[in-house]
Amino acid sequence: MSPKGNRRVLVSGNWKMNHTHYEAIQVVQKLAALLRAAPLPEDTDVSLHPSFTSLRSVQTALESDAVPIALGAQTCHFQDSGAYTGEVSAEMLAKLNVRYVLVGHSERRAMFGETDEVVRLKLDAVLWHAMVPILCVGETLEQRESGAAESTVATQLTAALADRGREALDSIVVAYEPVWAIGTGRTASADDAQAMAASIRGELELLGGEVSRTMLVQYGGSVTPDNAGELLACPDVDGLLVGGASLDADKFVAIASSGT
Ligand code: PEP
Repeated sequence: MSPKGNRRVLVSGNWKMNHTHYEAIQVVQKLAALLRAAPLPEDTDVSLHPSFTSLRSVQTALESDAVPIALGAQTCHFQDSGAYTGEVSAEMLAKLNVRYVLVGHSERRAMFGETDEVVRLKLDAVLWHAMVPILCVGETLEQRESGAAESTVATQLTAALADRGREALDSIVVAYEPVWAIGTGRTASADDAQAMAASIRGELELLGGEVSRTMLVQYGGSVTPDNAGELLACPDVDGLLVGGASLDADKFVAIASSGT
């Protein structure tokens, strides 16, 4: 059996605050044409995370053309409804057939004050509405250089995952995204990505035992068509979280097809 066991590959495109809904539809149409011409590897799933204003258009475009891409969101609020001006709830996302929700992306943590406590509440909300949270963890350059990369990630994992039952843990994906690699063009080496993914599995062993062998662990940070294959070949890396390169349909499909 492969060192990855039965784990599938999940490649997720985080569009961040890019693409109007018109542009989003055009990209989805191009993705649909590319995937019709060259289907994805059988073991690969793909999710696309547009901004809130494009979710409905992307949902319709994906569903009407039966494009094999799941709908994703970039964040959500942890309450279902209420006086939270500007926020969007997990319940609202679930009603749009959103399947995956990014939780605790480092940009949310750094720029929008998302603490480990808030990240945990958001995970609760996403799970409650039967969607799959992609829990983002990762260290800053300063933390890496001071030798605190693994302990930083372990703290984030424990805050989000401790005291959860097997069913909840089975529904969570972890994305390791070193902050210094996001949007910088500086990708972690395959060795570094593998070492941290293995360390994450060690932490998962403490938190959930068997789940350490079944949970998907993605890598994210300046992934391109050139480095995707090497990263996906790491025995503990099961997928990729892609920012900038996912805005371009050709690059995104090339990345998603790199897992064979
Ligand atoms: C991200 O936003 O999660 C990300 C990894 O961005 P990029 O691929 O642009 O580094």
